[in-house]
Amino acid sequence: MPPSDHAGQAERRAYWTSQLEAAHAFMHQALDQSVADCGEPLRDLRTAAQDAGARIEFASTKHVRGLDRIFRLRSGLIDGFLAAGAEMNRRGWVMRVEDGFRTREMQKFLAREASVFDAILRSVIWELDGRLPSPEFLLRRSMALVALMPKVGTHMSGSAIDISVLQLADRREVDRGASYLEMSELTPMHSPFVTPAARENRQAISTIMRRHGFVDYPYEFWHYNGGDAYEAVILKTGKPARYGAIDWSASDDSVRPMDDPCQPLNDSGEIRIEIERALERMRR
Ligand SMILES: [Zn+2]
Repeated sequence: MPPSDHAGQAERRAYWTSQLEAAHAFMHQALDQSVADCGEPLRDLRTAAQDAGARIEFASTKHVRGLDRIFRLRSGLIDGFLAAGAEMNRRGWVMRVEDGFRTREMQKFLAREASVFDAILRSVIWELDGRLPSPEFLLRRSMALVALMPKVGTHMSGSAIDISVLQLADRREVDRGASYLEMSELTPMHSPFVTPAARENRQAISTIMRRHGFVDYPYEFWHYNGGDAYEAVILKTGKPARYGAIDWSASDDSVRPMDDPCQPLNDSGEIRIEIERALERMRR
């Protein structure tokens, strides 16, 4: 590798490390954030979009364990969601919702999905310039990259969506420098390593989302959320968040605030087993 490329790689690695450490600190701030759940129900986004005649698309991929994705948000966020979708349409874009509400089962097994772990491990080995990480270090990075407790991530609060944006005319993806679930130095919202055009698109999408009640999460360019612990930390509201982690009952469509939102969904033994498995797959 020419010396200049090597310097470029070192710069990218240093940036990624600083962002992951910042994300780790952010998770702790979110865990400390006070929440007073307002008890609003979840509303189905597909139905809302259909009723409003809005052109919004939804990912057809399955969630972990073959589960159907749950495209739902709290009722208080629906108007903003529809308005953001409509504003994108007027600009010649279509929002595609990649993921919405997650149950305990979804979030628990997302953190243990082999493909997720392997992606984390690859990025950590790159970060360490080819060295294998200790299980402790891999666990630290996992916490920055996957919500390990219901209170963080806020998909379990019914207040977060992951989105891609497509061109209305031909459904080609609007360039954000990478696609949904990229795990690299391109992932932070303000990554200096994407092209100016991609940066502009990210900014334009965030401006639309902010106008309609969703803040952009600094460490993933696809994640937007509103009214929850993440929003309170990002906007420094100094007030309790109105949406906290909830258990949703599909049978009667009721929600109940969780008693244990800071409790890890996987115990450290379970996570350690997944780390050992990922290291094993990597050595093969
Ligand atoms: Zn997300």
